[in-house]
Amino acid sequence: MFCAAMAGQAGRRVLLLDNGKKPGRKILMSGGGRCNFTNLYVEPAAYLSQNPHFCKSALARYTQWDFIDMVGKHGIAWHEKTLGQLFCDDSAEHIVAMLVAECEKGNVTTRLRSEILSVTQDDAGYTLQLNGDVVAADKLVIASGGLSMPGLGASPFGYKVAEQFGLKVLPTRAGLVPFTLHKPMLEQFQVLSGVSVPSTITAQDGTLFRESLLFTHRGLSGPAVLQISSYWQAGEFVSINLLPDVDLADFLDVQRVEHPNQSLKNTLAMQLPKRLVECLQQLGQIPDVTLKQLNVREQQTLVETLTNWRVQPNGTEGYRTAEVTLGGVDTNELSSRTMEAKKAPGLYFIGEVMDVTGWLGGYNFQWAWSSAWACAQALADNT
Ligand SMILES: Cc1cc2nc3c(=O)[nH]c(=O)nc-3n(C[C@H](O)[C@H](O)[C@H](O)COP(=O)(O)OP(=O)(O)OC[C@H]3O[C@@H](n4cnc5c(N)ncnc54)[C@H](O)[C@@H]3O)c2cc1C
Repeated sequence: MFCAAMAGQAGRRVLLLDNGKKPGRKILMSGGGRCNFTNLYVEPAAYLSQNPHFCKSALARYTQWDFIDMVGKHGIAWHEKTLGQLFCDDSAEHIVAMLVAECEKGNVTTRLRSEILSVTQDDAGYTLQLNGDVVAADKLVIASGGLSMPGLGASPFGYKVAEQFGLKVLPTRAGLVPFTLHKPMLEQFQVLSGVSVPSTITAQDGTLFRESLLFTHRGLSGPAVLQISSYWQAGEFVSINLLPDVDLADFLDVQRVEHPNQSLKNTLAMQLPKRLVECLQQLGQIPDVTLKQLNVREQQTLVETLTNWRVQPNGTEGYRTAEVTLGGVDTNELSSRTMEAKKAPGLYFIGEVMDVTGWLGGYNFQWAWSSAWACAQALADNT
Protein backbone atom coordinates (compact mmCIF):
# COMPACT_ATOMS: atom_id res chain seq x y z
CA MET A 1 0.00 0.00 0.00
CA PHE A 2 2.76 2.43 0.91
CA CYS A 3 4.76 1.64 -2.22
CA ALA A 4 1.62 1.95 -4.36
CA ALA A 5 0.80 5.31 -2.78
CA MET A 6 4.31 6.73 -3.21
CA ALA A 7 4.63 5.48 -6.82
CA GLY A 8 1.16 6.82 -7.65
CA GLN A 9 1.97 10.21 -6.16
CA ALA A 10 5.14 10.27 -8.27
CA GLY A 11 3.07 9.90 -11.43
CA ARG A 12 2.94 6.14 -11.95
CA ARG A 13 -0.36 4.49 -12.90
CA VAL A 14 -0.70 1.87 -10.15
CA LEU A 15 -2.95 -1.15 -9.68
CA LEU A 16 -2.81 -2.55 -6.13
CA LEU A 17 -3.92 -6.17 -5.81
CA ASP A 18 -4.60 -8.00 -2.56
CA ASN A 19 -6.36 -11.28 -1.90
CA GLY A 20 -7.92 -9.95 1.32
CA LYS A 21 -11.41 -8.65 1.94
CA LYS A 22 -10.05 -5.45 3.45
CA PRO A 23 -6.71 -3.68 3.16
CA GLY A 24 -3.91 -3.91 5.72
CA ARG A 25 -5.17 -6.89 7.70
CA LYS A 26 -1.84 -7.48 9.45
CA ILE A 27 -1.67 -3.84 10.42
CA LEU A 28 -5.11 -4.11 12.01
CA MET A 29 -3.98 -7.16 14.03
CA SER A 30 -0.64 -5.71 15.00
CA GLY A 31 0.48 -4.36 18.33
CA GLY A 32 -2.64 -5.66 20.06
CA GLY A 33 -4.79 -3.53 17.71
CA ARG A 34 -2.68 -0.40 18.18
CA CYS A 35 0.03 -1.12 15.57
CA ASN A 36 3.61 -0.72 16.70
CA PHE A 37 4.35 1.15 13.46
CA THR A 38 8.04 1.94 13.97
CA ASN A 39 10.82 2.23 16.54
CA LEU A 40 12.82 5.26 17.65
CA TYR A 41 16.02 3.21 17.62
CA VAL A 42 15.87 1.62 14.16
CA GLU A 43 19.35 0.58 13.03
CA PRO A 44 20.64 -2.12 10.67
CA ALA A 45 21.89 -4.21 13.62
CA ALA A 46 18.26 -4.87 14.55
CA TYR A 47 17.73 -6.89 11.36
CA LEU A 48 18.60 -10.51 10.60
CA SER A 49 19.67 -11.35 7.06
CA GLN A 50 22.34 -13.45 5.38
CA ASN A 51 23.49 -10.12 3.95
CA PRO A 52 23.40 -7.74 6.94
CA HIS A 53 24.45 -4.75 4.79
CA PHE A 54 21.48 -4.98 2.43
CA CYS A 55 18.99 -3.09 4.60
CA LYS A 56 21.29 -0.12 5.31
CA SER A 57 20.58 1.97 2.21
CA ALA A 58 16.77 1.84 2.36
CA LEU A 59 16.66 2.36 6.14
CA ALA A 60 18.90 5.41 5.78
CA ARG A 61 16.91 6.92 2.91
CA TYR A 62 13.45 6.52 4.45
CA THR A 63 13.82 6.58 8.22
CA GLN A 64 11.55 6.15 11.23
CA TRP A 65 11.45 9.98 11.41
CA ASP A 66 10.02 10.17 7.89
CA PHE A 67 7.24 7.77 8.81
CA ILE A 68 6.60 9.52 12.14
CA ASP A 69 6.31 12.76 10.16
CA MET A 70 3.68 11.23 7.88
CA VAL A 71 1.75 9.83 10.86
CA GLY A 72 1.85 13.33 12.38
CA LYS A 73 0.57 14.95 9.16
CA HIS A 74 -2.45 12.64 9.32
CA GLY A 75 -3.13 13.76 12.88
CA ILE A 76 -2.61 10.29 14.35
CA ALA A 77 -1.77 10.42 18.05
CA TRP A 78 0.94 8.03 19.19
CA HIS A 79 3.07 7.20 22.21
CA GLU A 80 6.26 5.35 23.06
CA LYS A 81 5.41 2.23 25.01
CA THR A 82 8.85 0.88 25.86
CA LEU A 83 12.29 0.53 24.24
CA GLY A 84 11.46 3.08 21.53
CA GLN A 85 8.35 1.19 20.35
CA LEU A 86 5.78 3.61 18.90
CA PHE A 87 2.08 2.70 19.02
CA CYS A 88 -1.11 4.51 17.98
CA ASP A 89 -2.88 5.96 21.03
CA ASP A 90 -6.19 4.84 19.66
CA SER A 91 -6.32 2.18 16.95
CA ALA A 92 -4.29 0.56 14.16
CA GLU A 93 -7.22 1.45 11.91
CA HIS A 94 -5.76 4.97 11.68
CA ILE A 95 -2.59 3.63 10.03
CA VAL A 96 -4.65 1.69 7.47
CA ALA A 97 -6.85 4.76 6.87
CA MET A 98 -3.69 6.84 6.38
CA LEU A 99 -2.35 4.39 3.78
CA VAL A 100 -5.72 4.27 2.00
CA ALA A 101 -5.79 8.09 1.92
CA GLU A 102 -2.22 8.21 0.57
CA CYS A 103 -3.22 5.69 -2.14
CA GLU A 104 -6.21 7.85 -3.07
CA LYS A 105 -3.93 10.85 -3.30
CA GLY A 106 -1.80 8.86 -5.77
CA ASN A 107 -4.88 7.77 -7.78
CA VAL A 108 -4.06 4.13 -7.03
CA THR A 109 -6.68 1.63 -8.22
CA THR A 110 -7.17 -0.97 -5.50
CA ARG A 111 -8.68 -4.37 -6.14
CA LEU A 112 -9.34 -6.47 -3.07
CA ARG A 113 -10.29 -10.18 -3.09
CA SER A 114 -7.87 -10.51 -6.03
CA GLU A 115 -5.79 -13.64 -5.73
CA ILE A 116 -2.83 -13.60 -8.11
CA LEU A 117 -2.68 -17.11 -9.49
CA SER A 118 0.23 -16.87 -11.90
CA VAL A 119 2.71 -14.47 -13.49
CA THR A 120 4.17 -14.60 -17.00
CA GLN A 121 6.60 -12.28 -18.71
CA ASP A 122 7.14 -11.13 -22.29
CA ASP A 123 8.79 -8.14 -23.97
CA ALA A 124 5.94 -5.82 -22.91
CA GLY A 125 6.25 -6.70 -19.22
CA TYR A 126 4.35 -8.91 -16.79
CA THR A 127 0.92 -10.51 -17.20
CA LEU A 128 -0.96 -11.63 -14.10
CA GLN A 129 -3.66 -14.26 -14.05
CA LEU A 130 -6.13 -13.27 -11.31
CA ASN A 131 -9.17 -15.13 -10.11
CA GLY A 132 -11.48 -14.14 -12.96
CA ASP A 133 -9.34 -11.57 -14.80
CA VAL A 134 -6.01 -10.94 -16.51
CA VAL A 135 -3.96 -7.76 -16.06
CA ALA A 136 -0.66 -6.59 -17.55
CA ALA A 137 1.98 -4.12 -16.39
CA ASP A 138 5.49 -3.12 -17.36
CA LYS A 139 6.63 -3.27 -13.72
CA LEU A 140 5.62 -5.72 -11.01
CA VAL A 141 6.23 -5.19 -7.28
CA ILE A 142 5.79 -8.24 -5.05
CA ALA A 143 4.86 -7.31 -1.46
CA SER A 144 3.23 -10.59 -0.50
CA GLY A 145 4.76 -10.85 2.99
CA GLY A 146 5.83 -14.04 4.75
CA LEU A 147 4.14 -17.24 5.83
CA SER A 148 3.08 -16.27 9.33
CA MET A 149 -0.60 -16.21 10.17
CA PRO A 150 -1.97 -18.19 7.22
CA GLY A 151 -5.46 -17.19 8.39
CA LEU A 152 -4.65 -13.61 7.32
CA GLY A 153 -4.01 -14.52 3.67
CA ALA A 154 -0.29 -15.34 3.94
CA SER A 155 0.95 -17.50 1.08
CA PRO A 156 4.23 -18.69 -0.48
CA PHE A 157 3.25 -16.79 -3.64
CA GLY A 158 6.19 -14.35 -3.53
CA TYR A 159 8.75 -17.13 -3.06
CA LYS A 160 7.26 -19.04 -6.00
CA VAL A 161 7.44 -16.00 -8.29
CA ALA A 162 11.06 -15.45 -7.23
CA GLU A 163 11.96 -19.05 -8.05
CA GLN A 164 10.07 -18.87 -11.34
CA PHE A 165 12.35 -16.03 -12.39
CA GLY A 166 15.49 -17.85 -11.28
CA LEU A 167 16.06 -16.02 -7.98
CA LYS A 168 17.40 -17.92 -5.00
CA VAL A 169 15.02 -18.23 -2.04
CA LEU A 170 16.64 -18.94 1.33
CA PRO A 171 14.96 -21.50 3.63
CA THR A 172 12.14 -19.98 5.66
CA ARG A 173 11.22 -20.51 9.32
CA ALA A 174 8.98 -18.88 11.90
CA GLY A 175 10.45 -15.94 13.86
CA LEU A 176 9.24 -13.84 16.81
CA VAL A 177 7.38 -16.90 18.02
CA PRO A 178 6.80 -18.62 21.41
CA PHE A 179 8.76 -21.75 22.38
CA THR A 180 7.08 -25.06 23.10
CA LEU A 181 8.62 -27.37 25.73
CA HIS A 182 9.20 -31.13 25.89
CA LYS A 183 6.33 -32.88 27.68
CA PRO A 184 8.00 -33.57 31.06
CA MET A 185 9.20 -29.98 31.36
CA LEU A 186 5.90 -28.59 30.13
CA GLU A 187 4.04 -30.58 32.79
CA GLN A 188 6.37 -29.19 35.45
CA PHE A 189 5.93 -25.56 34.45
CA GLN A 190 2.34 -25.48 33.18
CA VAL A 191 1.17 -24.42 36.65
CA LEU A 192 3.07 -21.18 36.12
CA SER A 193 0.96 -20.20 33.10
CA GLY A 194 0.51 -16.41 33.23
CA VAL A 195 3.57 -15.72 35.42
CA SER A 196 5.87 -13.05 33.95
CA VAL A 197 9.39 -12.17 35.11
CA PRO A 198 12.10 -9.76 33.96
CA SER A 199 14.90 -11.76 32.37
CA THR A 200 17.89 -11.82 30.15
CA ILE A 201 17.88 -14.59 27.59
CA THR A 202 20.89 -15.68 25.56
CA ALA A 203 21.07 -17.79 22.40
CA GLN A 204 23.92 -20.19 21.63
CA ASP A 205 25.44 -17.61 19.24
CA GLY A 206 25.72 -15.18 22.19
CA THR A 207 22.82 -12.89 21.18
CA LEU A 208 21.20 -11.53 24.34
CA PHE A 209 17.90 -9.77 25.03
CA ARG A 210 16.79 -8.18 28.26
CA GLU A 211 13.01 -8.28 28.33
CA SER A 212 10.25 -10.07 30.20
CA LEU A 213 9.60 -13.79 29.98
CA LEU A 214 6.13 -15.30 30.23
CA PHE A 215 5.23 -18.86 31.22
CA THR A 216 2.30 -20.15 29.12
CA HIS A 217 0.25 -23.34 29.01
CA ARG A 218 2.23 -24.35 25.89
CA GLY A 219 5.72 -23.31 26.99
CA LEU A 220 7.56 -20.00 27.14
CA SER A 221 6.66 -16.67 25.58
CA GLY A 222 6.91 -12.93 26.29
CA PRO A 223 9.10 -10.41 24.46
CA ALA A 224 12.37 -12.05 25.61
CA VAL A 225 11.42 -15.40 24.10
CA LEU A 226 9.94 -13.93 20.90
CA GLN A 227 13.15 -11.98 20.32
CA ILE A 228 15.50 -14.88 20.94
CA SER A 229 13.39 -17.29 18.86
CA SER A 230 14.68 -15.58 15.71
CA TYR A 231 18.25 -16.48 16.73
CA TRP A 232 17.42 -20.04 17.85
CA GLN A 233 17.89 -23.18 15.73
CA ALA A 234 16.16 -26.50 16.42
CA GLY A 235 18.02 -28.57 19.02
CA GLU A 236 19.85 -25.60 20.58
CA PHE A 237 19.68 -24.43 24.19
CA VAL A 238 18.92 -20.95 25.45
CA SER A 239 20.22 -19.63 28.76
CA ILE A 240 17.84 -17.64 30.97
CA ASN A 241 18.73 -15.36 33.87
CA LEU A 242 15.59 -15.01 36.00
CA LEU A 243 17.25 -12.39 38.22
CA PRO A 244 18.99 -9.99 35.84
CA ASP A 245 18.78 -7.05 38.23
CA VAL A 246 20.12 -8.76 41.34
CA ASP A 247 23.49 -10.18 42.39
CA LEU A 248 21.90 -13.25 43.95
CA ALA A 249 24.96 -14.44 45.90
CA ASP A 250 25.43 -10.99 47.48
CA PHE A 251 21.72 -10.73 48.24
CA LEU A 252 21.67 -14.12 49.99
CA ASP A 253 24.84 -13.28 51.97
CA VAL A 254 23.33 -10.03 53.24
CA GLN A 255 20.00 -11.66 54.09
CA ARG A 256 21.76 -14.53 55.89
CA VAL A 257 23.49 -12.07 58.22
CA GLU A 258 20.31 -10.09 58.87
CA HIS A 259 17.74 -12.92 58.99
CA PRO A 260 19.54 -16.25 59.52
CA ASN A 261 16.34 -18.11 60.45
CA GLN A 262 14.35 -16.88 57.43
CA SER A 263 13.43 -19.62 54.98
CA LEU A 264 15.23 -19.62 51.65
CA LYS A 265 11.84 -19.80 49.96
CA ASN A 266 10.55 -16.59 51.58
CA THR A 267 13.87 -14.87 50.89
CA LEU A 268 13.72 -15.67 47.18
CA ALA A 269 10.06 -14.61 47.07
CA MET A 270 11.34 -11.08 47.76
CA GLN A 271 12.89 -11.13 44.28
CA LEU A 272 10.81 -13.61 42.29
CA PRO A 273 7.06 -14.31 41.92
CA LYS A 274 5.88 -16.55 44.81
CA ARG A 275 4.32 -19.07 42.40
CA LEU A 276 7.65 -19.51 40.62
CA VAL A 277 9.53 -20.04 43.89
CA GLU A 278 6.97 -22.60 45.10
CA CYS A 279 7.10 -24.45 41.80
CA LEU A 280 10.91 -24.58 41.81
CA GLN A 281 10.90 -25.81 45.40
CA GLN A 282 8.46 -28.60 44.54
CA LEU A 283 10.78 -29.57 41.68
CA GLY A 284 13.69 -29.78 44.15
CA GLN A 285 15.52 -26.81 42.60
CA ILE A 286 15.19 -24.71 45.77
CA PRO A 287 16.19 -26.53 48.98
CA ASP A 288 13.64 -26.42 51.83
CA VAL A 289 16.05 -24.81 54.32
CA THR A 290 16.62 -21.62 56.30
CA LEU A 291 19.35 -19.22 55.20
CA LYS A 292 21.76 -20.35 57.93
CA GLN A 293 21.29 -23.97 56.80
CA LEU A 294 22.07 -23.18 53.14
CA ASN A 295 25.62 -24.40 52.53
CA VAL A 296 28.12 -22.94 50.05
CA ARG A 297 27.67 -25.69 47.46
CA GLU A 298 23.86 -25.47 47.60
CA GLN A 299 24.05 -21.70 47.21
CA GLN A 300 26.32 -21.99 44.17
CA THR A 301 23.95 -24.51 42.56
CA LEU A 302 20.98 -22.27 43.32
CA VAL A 303 22.67 -19.22 41.79
CA GLU A 304 23.49 -21.26 38.68
CA THR A 305 19.90 -22.55 38.44
CA LEU A 306 18.31 -19.12 38.68
CA THR A 307 20.79 -17.08 36.66
CA ASN A 308 21.86 -19.60 34.03
CA TRP A 309 18.76 -21.73 33.54
CA ARG A 310 19.49 -23.76 30.42
CA VAL A 311 16.39 -24.67 28.47
CA GLN A 312 16.21 -26.78 25.33
CA PRO A 313 12.92 -25.87 23.64
CA ASN A 314 11.02 -28.65 21.94
CA GLY A 315 10.27 -26.28 19.06
CA THR A 316 8.22 -23.17 18.36
CA GLU A 317 4.51 -22.58 17.90
CA GLY A 318 5.30 -22.15 14.18
CA TYR A 319 3.68 -19.93 11.58
CA ARG A 320 0.30 -20.12 13.32
CA THR A 321 1.38 -17.56 15.91
CA ALA A 322 4.71 -16.25 14.55
CA GLU A 323 4.93 -12.52 13.87
CA VAL A 324 7.43 -12.90 11.05
CA THR A 325 9.08 -15.28 8.61
CA LEU A 326 12.86 -15.54 8.59
CA GLY A 327 14.60 -16.21 5.28
CA GLY A 328 12.91 -15.61 1.93
CA VAL A 329 14.10 -14.03 -1.32
CA ASP A 330 17.90 -13.85 -1.16
CA THR A 331 18.86 -10.17 -0.99
CA ASN A 332 21.94 -10.87 -3.13
CA GLU A 333 19.46 -11.25 -5.99
CA LEU A 334 18.13 -7.70 -5.47
CA SER A 335 19.42 -4.14 -5.76
CA SER A 336 19.57 -2.58 -2.27
CA ARG A 337 18.83 0.83 -3.84
CA THR A 338 15.76 -0.11 -5.87
CA MET A 339 14.70 -3.61 -4.67
CA GLU A 340 14.68 -4.70 -8.34
CA ALA A 341 15.66 -8.27 -9.19
CA LYS A 342 19.03 -8.25 -10.92
CA LYS A 343 18.01 -11.18 -13.15
CA ALA A 344 14.49 -9.93 -13.96
CA PRO A 345 14.28 -6.23 -14.90
CA GLY A 346 10.97 -4.69 -13.89
CA LEU A 347 10.36 -7.20 -11.08
CA TYR A 348 10.72 -5.88 -7.51
CA PHE A 349 10.43 -7.45 -4.03
CA ILE A 350 9.75 -5.39 -0.91
CA GLY A 351 8.92 -6.01 2.76
CA GLU A 352 8.89 -9.31 4.56
CA VAL A 353 9.00 -11.58 1.49
CA MET A 354 12.74 -11.01 1.29
CA ASP A 355 15.44 -12.22 3.66
CA VAL A 356 15.34 -9.20 5.99
CA THR A 357 13.72 -9.76 9.39
CA GLY A 358 13.55 -7.23 12.20
CA TRP A 359 13.41 -7.51 15.95
CA LEU A 360 10.17 -7.24 17.83
CA GLY A 361 9.15 -3.61 18.37
CA GLY A 362 8.15 -1.90 15.12
CA TYR A 363 11.26 -2.87 13.16
CA ASN A 364 9.40 -5.05 10.65
CA PHE A 365 6.93 -2.37 9.69
CA GLN A 366 9.79 0.12 9.31
CA TRP A 367 11.47 -2.31 6.91
CA ALA A 368 8.19 -2.55 4.97
CA TRP A 369 7.98 1.29 4.76
CA SER A 370 11.68 1.84 3.93
CA SER A 371 11.94 -0.86 1.26
CA ALA A 372 8.61 0.27 -0.24
CA TRP A 373 9.82 3.86 -0.41
CA ALA A 374 13.13 2.88 -2.07
CA CYS A 375 11.21 0.86 -4.65
CA ALA A 376 8.70 3.66 -5.29
CA GLN A 377 11.56 6.11 -5.94
CA ALA A 378 12.99 3.74 -8.53
CA LEU A 379 9.57 3.37 -10.18
CA ALA A 380 9.19 7.14 -10.22
CA ASP A 381 12.62 7.57 -11.83
CA ASN A 382 11.47 5.20 -14.57
CA THR A 383 8.30 7.08 -15.56
C1 LIG B 1 -0.07 -10.77 14.62
C2 LIG B 1 1.04 -9.94 14.07
C3 LIG B 1 1.38 -8.76 14.72
C4 LIG B 1 2.44 -7.98 14.21
N1 LIG B 1 2.75 -6.83 14.86
C5 LIG B 1 3.75 -6.05 14.38
C6 LIG B 1 4.03 -4.79 14.99
O1 LIG B 1 3.33 -4.34 15.91
N2 LIG B 1 5.10 -4.08 14.50
C7 LIG B 1 5.85 -4.52 13.43
O2 LIG B 1 6.79 -3.84 13.03
N3 LIG B 1 5.56 -5.68 12.82
C8 LIG B 1 4.53 -6.44 13.26
N4 LIG B 1 4.24 -7.62 12.61
C9 LIG B 1 4.99 -7.96 11.39
C10 LIG B 1 4.42 -7.12 10.23
O3 LIG B 1 3.01 -7.23 10.22
C11 LIG B 1 4.97 -7.59 8.89
O4 LIG B 1 6.36 -7.68 8.92
C12 LIG B 1 4.53 -6.63 7.78
O5 LIG B 1 3.12 -6.59 7.70
C13 LIG B 1 5.12 -7.06 6.44
O6 LIG B 1 4.56 -6.23 5.45
P1 LIG B 1 4.47 -6.75 3.96
O7 LIG B 1 3.80 -5.65 3.19
O8 LIG B 1 5.77 -7.25 3.50
O9 LIG B 1 3.50 -8.03 4.01
P2 LIG B 1 2.03 -8.22 4.60
O10 LIG B 1 1.65 -7.12 5.52
O11 LIG B 1 1.99 -9.62 5.10
O12 LIG B 1 1.09 -8.08 3.33
C14 LIG B 1 1.11 -9.03 2.29
C15 LIG B 1 -0.22 -9.02 1.59
O13 LIG B 1 -0.14 -9.81 0.40
C16 LIG B 1 -1.31 -10.59 0.29
N5 LIG B 1 -1.05 -11.76 -0.56
C17 LIG B 1 -0.22 -12.81 -0.32
N6 LIG B 1 -0.25 -13.66 -1.37
C18 LIG B 1 -1.10 -13.13 -2.28
C19 LIG B 1 -1.55 -13.54 -3.59
N7 LIG B 1 -1.12 -14.66 -4.16
N8 LIG B 1 -2.43 -12.75 -4.24
C20 LIG B 1 -2.87 -11.58 -3.70
N9 LIG B 1 -2.48 -11.14 -2.48
C21 LIG B 1 -1.60 -11.91 -1.79
C22 LIG B 1 -1.64 -10.94 1.75
O14 LIG B 1 -2.98 -11.31 1.91
C23 LIG B 1 -1.33 -9.63 2.46
O15 LIG B 1 -2.43 -8.77 2.49
C24 LIG B 1 3.17 -8.40 13.07
C25 LIG B 1 2.80 -9.58 12.43
C26 LIG B 1 1.75 -10.34 12.90
C27 LIG B 1 1.38 -11.61 12.18
